Amino acid sequence: MRACEFTMRHYREILDKTRKIHQIVPFCQLSFRKKKKYQVLLRHDIDNSLHNALEMARCEKELGVKATYFVQLHCDDYPAGSAEGVRIIRELRDLGHEIGLHYDPSYYTAIEKSFGDGIKSDLRDLSEIAGRPVVSVSPHLPLLHGQEERMPGSVKYRAMDPVFVNGEYKYLSDSNGVFREGCFCTHLTNRRNYCFLVHPVWWTTEGSRWQEKMVSQAELGCLVVRGRYRAKIDLYESIMKKRNEYDKRFAEMLKGRK
Ligand SMILES: [Zn+2]
Ligand SMILES: [Zn+2]
Repeated sequence: MRACEFTMRHYREILDKTRKIHQIVPFCQLSFRKKKKYQVLLRHDIDNSLHNALEMARCEKELGVKATYFVQLHCDDYPAGSAEGVRIIRELRDLGHEIGLHYDPSYYTAIEKSFGDGIKSDLRDLSEIAGRPVVSVSPHLPLLHGQEERMPGSVKYRAMDPVFVNGEYKYLSDSNGVFREGCFCTHLTNRRNYCFLVHPVWWTTEGSRWQEKMVSQAELGCLVVRGRYRAKIDLYESIMKKRNEYDKRFAEMLKGRK
């Protein structure tokens, strides 16, 4: 195996090695019964971009691997509820992955909702977007919030449940593009269950340090925004070409209302 680095090439190598030793599963498919193989719960928190999540999801599909993609509904950096967001989230689902909710209690505070009411409406909205019930949740920046978290009964899996954080499953995270206990690939021969938290941004973007990767992500985000505006210009140009026709139809519509 090559030297450890945060690249899609190394991510693919890690998964390829992992799937030969362990059973890789999303939260909704885990089983606490005695298993032939040790399990790796594959968790992704989407904090920056649905597009790089999709890149990771496609790579996993090629390797026959399924993960849980935890989506934020109120993130400044990607619109989960727009038509484009829905299309990507459903593509993640159609690639075989589970859609979970990456909830952010600071949003519930901002709209003056209780934690219970906030997460209930998020679960309802994301289930609608995903086209199936959302049963797994993970918190965004859990140490920054003070709300008491009472989960609705529909939630079956909480990613930060002690069982997944150094209980039956050992927790390894790439948070901020830094491993506390060495790269995932150095753990794979251990005989135990793992929960891997992988943020797509560190693996899909250019740069050697996490700060550089953040800047690369910002640039990729700008490209997406530029693409959207180009499409908007094309659409408006086609409307402008038919302006007389549209004006006529508009006038007829107004006449019809009188
Ligand atoms: Zn490695
Ligand atoms: Zn997060």
